[in-house]
Amino acid sequence: MDCLFCKIVAGEIPSRKVYEDDVVLAFYDIEPKAPVHVLIIPKQHLAGVRDVTPSNSDVVAHVFEVIPTIARELGVTDYRIVTNNGVDAGQTVHHLHFHLLAGRVLGEMG
Ligand code: AMP
Ligand code: ZN
Repeated sequence: MDCLFCKIVAGEIPSRKVYEDDVVLAFYDIEPKAPVHVLIIPKQHLAGVRDVTPSNSDVVAHVFEVIPTIARELGVTDYRIVTNNGVDAGQTVHHLHFHLLAGRVLGEMG
């Protein structure tokens, strides 16, 4: 499948990894919008929140289970988790991902 983040999962495109287990991969965003900007993705290809169903929501639960561990490893206590679903919401990579933003006072959501 022609998916950038599937290629990162497969190791075909390099990334600066922060965390990895069987289900989840986390790596630094290539264009950081905050001093700490990490993307947390399920290894399984889901196009976005729109693809979450009762049969795969355990993957999403696992993402949120590991976020506190990832934040600890990054040395941040306060952070924002953002996911864009669909082009109008700003989604540019159509593989479900959660932005972890931290390291500065974050402004209001727009
Ligand atoms: P979104 O706009 O919510 O779909 O987020 C996609 C994010 O992926 C953006 O913040 C990009 O900077 C980031 N991105 C694009 N290509 C790469 C890459 N090769 N490695 C790491 N992050 C990337
Ligand atoms: Zn993918």
